[in-house]
Amino acid sequence: MKKVFFGVFVIVLVGVALILMGVTVKRSQEEHPTLLMRLNNRVDGSCNITSYTTYGRFFNLEGNIDGEHDDIALILKDEEKEIEYELVLENREDMTVFKTNKLINQGINLENVPVGKYVFFIRLGSEEEVKYYTLNDKSQMKNITYYTITKNSKNKEIKIDFEDYDSKSFMVLNNEETKLPSNIYDVVIDPGHGGKDVGANKNGQYESKINLEYGLKLKESLEKLGLKVKLTRETDESIPNYGEGSRVSVPYEAKAKLLLSIHQNSAIYNVGDGGVEIYVPNHADNSFAEMLATNIVENTSTIYSGNVANKISKGVYLRKFSKSDIASMTKEAKQKGYEPYDKATTDTTYYYIIRETGGIVSGAYVDDRNSDNPWNIYYNSNHGCESYLLELGFINSTTNLEILLNEQDKYVKAISDSVKYYLEI
Ligand SMILES: [Zn+2]
Repeated sequence: MKKVFFGVFVIVLVGVALILMGVTVKRSQEEHPTLLMRLNNRVDGSCNITSYTTYGRFFNLEGNIDGEHDDIALILKDEEKEIEYELVLENREDMTVFKTNKLINQGINLENVPVGKYVFFIRLGSEEEVKYYTLNDKSQMKNITYYTITKNSKNKEIKIDFEDYDSKSFMVLNNEETKLPSNIYDVVIDPGHGGKDVGANKNGQYESKINLEYGLKLKESLEKLGLKVKLTRETDESIPNYGEGSRVSVPYEAKAKLLLSIHQNSAIYNVGDGGVEIYVPNHADNSFAEMLATNIVENTSTIYSGNVANKISKGVYLRKFSKSDIASMTKEAKQKGYEPYDKATTDTTYYYIIRETGGIVSGAYVDDRNSDNPWNIYYNSNHGCESYLLELGFINSTTNLEILLNEQDKYVKAISDSVKYYLEI
């Protein structure tokens, strides 16, 4: 008897579970139009967005609205709540231009958006007289799919795209828990040089080999934090800068949030005790680079580099194209019969690994001066990686080389502690 009852019980349980599953599936399909339908009643007008991008963890957009306004916020709205983001405003002839960030690694941190479905609105005015404007896409950019950084083995997938309802266009953000696809990574580490390209060398020590040792150790250390990490190379091999499987393509394909390119410095002059230099992207907040440099100096025997060229603060450097860099590039192109690269200005980040991995946000371009060479296939991507170039020390400083060879674990700990803090693991 007991067995029969138990059997019936199981059948009823399975039945209830199936019905619940059906209801859940049906509800999630209906939820979207319901959200748009309900929020549709609040719409007072529309405005345009001219760009939307991700750079590292940051989603940002830029657009404009008719008339002069100063009381504007960007909001993410569902049926219960509003998440508010400040805007940077600029009035231009009967039009207000708005954007979410001043610096490229600021603005809307996607890691902090709660799970759910939301619609983007521009909210005008304050409490008593509030108006909601939808966002029309005038950007011709691709929809965004973002995966949050792995924390406690968990990830979320955030999709940002446009949906029509009642002949209006709504910009929608959908954030749900997911299993991270196998080809997606949190961080990419790029051990510079490799194979025939040995980089700097001194007394039989090759930069390419030291970079790889650091890359492998750093990967292991970051993985202990629970991060998913990819190396651009895992052996002493030569890999291309552009094109398939290149240093530049890997971070895009991995949808990485952070890229650390590991190098060792060298100079023609006597560098004494050497020192660390962290190269940053232009127009970025440099707090992560400052922390990297400080942690390295405080936890190893190395010092901040004494080099003053391109220095912006202790151990932090920003190199942009100089007028003479641009002149010599143009001259070289002419000599070799290529089209000169005419997009570089004195405001463009010099190092390709930083510039080319951030997509349009960091000023990537198609390097097609020589059509025989592969070029950056992601040059106009609206998703990019936040990238830094780490010159850990000078290989041609006797004191520094010794530290670089003997204090690798201390360096790696300093870097991985900084990443842990910055990515809020
Ligand atoms: Zn190098």
